[in-house]
Amino acid sequence: MTEPGVLYVVATPIGNLGDLSARAREVLARASVIAAEDTRHSGRLLQELGLERPLLSLHEHNERARAAELVERLRSGQDVALISDAGTPLVSDPGYQLLQAALAAGVTVSPVPGPCAAIAALSVAGLPGDRFCFEGFLPQRAAARRRRIAELAGETRTLILYEAPHRIAASLADLAAVLGAGRHACVARELTKQFESFYRGSLGELAELAVGDANLRRGESVIIVAGAAAEPVDPAGLDATLGVLLRYLPPSVAAQAAAEITGSSRNEAYARALALAAPVPDDSA
Ligand code: SAM
Repeated sequence: MTEPGVLYVVATPIGNLGDLSARAREVLARASVIAAEDTRHSGRLLQELGLERPLLSLHEHNERARAAELVERLRSGQDVALISDAGTPLVSDPGYQLLQAALAAGVTVSPVPGPCAAIAALSVAGLPGDRFCFEGFLPQRAAARRRRIAELAGETRTLILYEAPHRIAASLADLAAVLGAGRHACVARELTKQFESFYRGSLGELAELAVGDANLRRGESVIIVAGAAAEPVDPAGLDATLGVLLRYLPPSVAAQAAAEITGSSRNEAYARALALAAPVPDDSA
């Protein structure tokens, strides 16, 4: 019987070609086929590496069908390398369905670790890296994004977020409004590339900078945000916190977030939220 092949999950550079590991190059050079998110993009990478291997596209729209095809190849003894456009496959990138199908078929899967924007940013952000929470992309729509941020308000681990250039200013503004303008953060931009830069400061400062400094809105960025303080904040700040949150969120969600931010009880926060959200009686008549 033919020995099945191995599915290698291979990390590729997030900007600097020098970050491709020697083992990644070796695995790519030997693979029977390379499954890539965008074959044109990865074709250029292989060309720059001087490698010539068959490429098959595997992206969110064809992954299920492609996974079945690739598992057949693996079963017949071919080694498959999975890569994405940049960084580590499956980290906010395609590959999950293929991995599931390979595991279900009893195929050996093996990682070839390397670049990942989240980890690269965390390693220099200046915020605790011993415990962190990778959130990937926030929702694109403003209301859903604010709701998600409110759900994260009590998270004490360092938060790692990916963001697209055209949404970075809006996301920083929402993070400042919901988590508090004073929370420390870092925007890591264009990692490993020519214009690599880091913006460190409070969320309020970074949100302002994102409006005034066009460079911050250019290229690719990771946002790293300090976790919520483990110590409860002064409960006297409950009304002030709710005052901001209620501008963006319904009372129940605002109360939940405010309770986590200030250390108040949920019941107390909800009662205050209802009181603050109630229309002020018009006594001018
Ligand atoms: N799988 C990739 C990884 O391992 O980092 C992430 C892919 S995800 C679709 C793309 C997002 O990663 C970008 O929107 C940005 O937030 C982040 N990113 C990728 N490359 C980056 C870079 N060179 N500098 C900063 N952020 C980067």
